[in-house]
Amino acid sequence: MKTYDYLIVGAGLFGSVCAYELSRASKSCLVIDKRNHIGGNVYCESVNGINVHKYGAHIFHTSNKTIWDYVNSFIEFNRYTNYPIANFKGKLFNLPFNMNTFYQMWGTITPDAAKAKIEAEVAREKIGEPKNLEEKALSLVGRDIYETLIKGYTEKQWGCKCSELPPFIISRLPLRFTFDNNYFNDRYQGIPIGGYNKLFEKLLSNVDLKLNCDFFDNKELANLTKRIIYTGPIDRLLDFKLGRLEYRGLHFDTRIEKTDNFQGSAVVNYTSSTVPYTRIIEHKHFESTPSNETIITYEYPKRYVEGAEPYYPINNPRNDALYANYENEIKKTHKFILGGRLATYKYLDMHCVIQSALETVNALLKNN
Ligand code: FAD
Ligand code: UDP
Repeated sequence: MKTYDYLIVGAGLFGSVCAYELSRASKSCLVIDKRNHIGGNVYCESVNGINVHKYGAHIFHTSNKTIWDYVNSFIEFNRYTNYPIANFKGKLFNLPFNMNTFYQMWGTITPDAAKAKIEAEVAREKIGEPKNLEEKALSLVGRDIYETLIKGYTEKQWGCKCSELPPFIISRLPLRFTFDNNYFNDRYQGIPIGGYNKLFEKLLSNVDLKLNCDFFDNKELANLTKRIIYTGPIDRLLDFKLGRLEYRGLHFDTRIEKTDNFQGSAVVNYTSSTVPYTRIIEHKHFESTPSNETIITYEYPKRYVEGAEPYYPINNPRNDALYANYENEIKKTHKFILGGRLATYKYLDMHCVIQSALETVNALLKNN
């Protein structure tokens, strides 16, 4: 049987960038994925001409010029900018928290007025160093915004109280005193014209690829190579022997609607705890796809059950400590290189995954 320099488990972003860079350096790679398609969670499915982000909306954003130039060397991006709307009990607010939001919440017109309102709200909470997400949110924006735009959404999303979550999750959201509804602070942003799949087709064009191939059902593949790049869940790799890491699951309910414009925005968040889903995605707005109908996806967070897709790592002290133990065990074998969102058990955006894959390959090539 043909042997390879690397077996890469997972044709998602991490595995595909590694495969591309290693094959460019004349290393032979076999990439396998248990799914029937490439692209991992970034995969788009074309439905009636509309690219549906099958595993959740994916908006590319980065401030790193090297990474932006890298992805643009494969695909062209449009100028999509994410301006999500929040719907709280039928009232609409702009996100992220900015002068439009403050006007909608309190009627404040100037930055000084908005700052004074927030400072007064924050002072009332008397919080020192925030110990959890609730305290972090209250100390950043005060109770009105916390209870309208954060609490319900976050508790649905993570399935626990904000007071039980780490502060860092909310630090992802910008707070600004300008009338700027751009969800991201990054310098570069967009959606690939024609969807993300083209990126993966290019990244994987020079490697051997096997789909519908679960590593754990095909362990003999490990004998074809000395090193394995593994991008699946880390606990599965050691047969859960140290215990199970926790994840948050998602359920996507995708529907075709007989209107050309369902909600006027690609992303509308439902921030009240009384609505069971967190957001509705209207896919055609990512690429301004002309069509008489539209495709929308209701996103429901749910408890993760074994065998389902592990979407979000739950980075609490118990899970982080367990992850560190798994990582130590696996490092001892020198056979596996861990990468991507699942194997490193981190909440990583796409640009971070690409950067980490490039760094991983550089380190591998340096040592060989
Ligand atoms: P994955 O995409 O999960 O790829 C891992 C691959 O490994 C999968 O294809 C899987 O099938 C395969 N695999 C696992 N186990 C095995 C096995 N045993 N055998 C064979 N194959 C296996 N990032 C952004 O930058 N912008 C966004 O807007 C954004 N939105 C997101 C929305 C949601 C709902 C989620 C969950 C994530 C979002 N992300 C976003 C993050 C983005 O999805 C990740 O950065 C990216 O997908 C990580 O790539 P990866 O290769 O690490 O993982
Ligand atoms: N969040 C919130 N209200 C919103 C949107 C986000 O409170 O309307 C919080 C929530 O805790 C979420 C975090 O901000 O988990 C990060 O949001 P982001 O949109 O980055 O989440 P992702 O798209 O990665 O799921």
